[in-house]
Amino acid sequence: MNCGIRIADCGIRNPGVGTSSKLESEIWKGFTNVEAIILLGAPGSGKGTTAEKIRAVTGYVHVSTGDMLREAVRKETRVGHEAESFMERGALVPDEIMIRLVEERLDSGSNSDLYMFDGFPRTIAQAELLEKSLRRRGVGISHVFFLDTPRQVLIERLSGRRICRKCGVNYHVVNMPPKTEGVCDACGGELYQRPDDQKKTIIKRLEVYNRQTEGLISRYEEQNLLVRIDSNQSVEKIILEIVDMLKRG
Ligand SMILES: [Zn+2]
Repeated sequence: MNCGIRIADCGIRNPGVGTSSKLESEIWKGFTNVEAIILLGAPGSGKGTTAEKIRAVTGYVHVSTGDMLREAVRKETRVGHEAESFMERGALVPDEIMIRLVEERLDSGSNSDLYMFDGFPRTIAQAELLEKSLRRRGVGISHVFFLDTPRQVLIERLSGRRICRKCGVNYHVVNMPPKTEGVCDACGGELYQRPDDQKKTIIKRLEVYNRQTEGLISRYEEQNLLVRIDSNQSVEKIILEIVDMLKRG
């Protein structure tokens, strides 16, 4: 059992007097061994929303490399400057820069933090760097959750996305349509489709994603860490399933 998980009803919060030494050592272990989980999911799998809810329910620190990159660029940090030169050219940010970003984040946390990685690792090389880096800090990976979504569902979700030009609010032509087609409910601005969300581009993005993550998925399967979650269900059900697994440790 792992009481390091900050879930309200974690059963061993107050073990009381007379607890067996085995349980005590397990509690101790739970509080000193920092753990990490990884979320994998294709664009459109709802990974970001899921991560945000897990953070809210469990207290896992959300380590989103996408957000961290944008922030580093905005704050003009050293890593930010280096990453920007690649992003401007439309090139992938090298693994070495990504892992430095992650390490800065790990080193700024406390030794009781539980980490949830979102958007990293994306390749086997990154997974190896992350494992090394976590091991040095005494952090173990407890679960890798893969939000498994049928390709057709991903295409429908992504190609239906519309964004307001003026205020940036997101809509979906089927799941969250505006009151008037093409017009933002909030500000009356014009809704548009990002070039990235056009069907041809989506299919390409998904192909790239699959190619990159195939290796990762088998790696985590071999390590007995992979948990497949059917992402074609409500976010609430997905969260319940994940939190249940985390509680079981
Ligand atoms: Zn708007």
